[in-house]
Amino acid sequence: MAVDSFSAKARKISANIGAHYVDNARKLPWRTPPGGKLPNPYHVWLSEIMLQQTTVGAVKSYFETFTRRWPTVQQLAAAKEADVLAAWAGLGYYARARNLHKCAVHVTEKLDGIFPQKESELLKLPGVGAYTAAAIAAIAFGERAVVVDANIERLVARLFAIDTPLPKGKAAIRTAMDAITPAERAGDFAQACMDMGATICTSKNPKCDICPVQEQCAAFAAGDMESYPVKPPKKHKPVRRARFFWVEQQGRILLATRPPKGMLGGMRALPDDGWAAGRDGHANPPIAGQWRVHDNIVQHSFTHFSLEVDLAVYQDEKIATNKDDNIWWPLDNIAEAGLPTLYAKAVKWKLKEET
Ligand code: SF4
Repeated sequence: MAVDSFSAKARKISANIGAHYVDNARKLPWRTPPGGKLPNPYHVWLSEIMLQQTTVGAVKSYFETFTRRWPTVQQLAAAKEADVLAAWAGLGYYARARNLHKCAVHVTEKLDGIFPQKESELLKLPGVGAYTAAAIAAIAFGERAVVVDANIERLVARLFAIDTPLPKGKAAIRTAMDAITPAERAGDFAQACMDMGATICTSKNPKCDICPVQEQCAAFAAGDMESYPVKPPKKHKPVRRARFFWVEQQGRILLATRPPKGMLGGMRALPDDGWAAGRDGHANPPIAGQWRVHDNIVQHSFTHFSLEVDLAVYQDEKIATNKDDNIWWPLDNIAEAGLPTLYAKAVKWKLKEET
């Protein structure tokens, strides 16, 4: 496309998406209405960290719980990491929660509780990558930053029929997003594009009939919307095996704190057999006893592998354990333990099996 017609197309797209957002912005607890006062940077940061790899629907209630319990970044910094991890339970990707706490401490202690405004400074914060830095700079501070999340990637790839497969195609998508991002209110524009991707330009069955940029859309013109963005060929996901241990005496079960580093690090969980992303567990129980094993009670999908979990059960009147980090947790209050989803699934299976 000639440079002039490319910029004319970019201007139209920018204007149409911006105008559409004024009346169609999704109302989300961390947002302010289009064109109005900029939102609280603490809220923007918190929501953007929660939204990494997670849907808006899943994040809303966690965002509300966190901001009710820790209304400011200083209050979050003063919380115990274990409490933050427990409040995060169920959202997944737990390294985010550890970095969230670390970042709150950093902003409070080193930056007087004030988030930096520039993308380059935001990038230095723990847990803040290129996407998140751009999103916070644009949304919380109105800086002109180029924001590209998965929704925007799909929308822009279709508008310009960018056919280089991901991840290589990301560079062309970013260039196109740069061309359509306006100088003013770049945060509103980014959120407008996110909304378009989430509600109109969806991965399956996009609603092109109500799309404000249908006339400018190259994929629509070619009648080939769902081919974009072009995905790389699928890799086979390995399957790993793990064994969890249910040790129960007098209405309480044994929980352990996972090692601070590695998957689900620092979280409370059922004792297990040391499974990891790259290997199966050893299946050996932590103590001697009369174990009953239930095979493959839970299947869980991680980004790079699937996990099949067996549950070994040992119930007795009196059980001796010798590890300092073990906790006997009352079963009638197990929902408060803040177990990661994977372990919560195993607990649910066991409690259901008993009824
Ligand atoms: Fe997406 Fe269809 Fe709009 Fe193109 S016309 S941007 S494919 S919704």
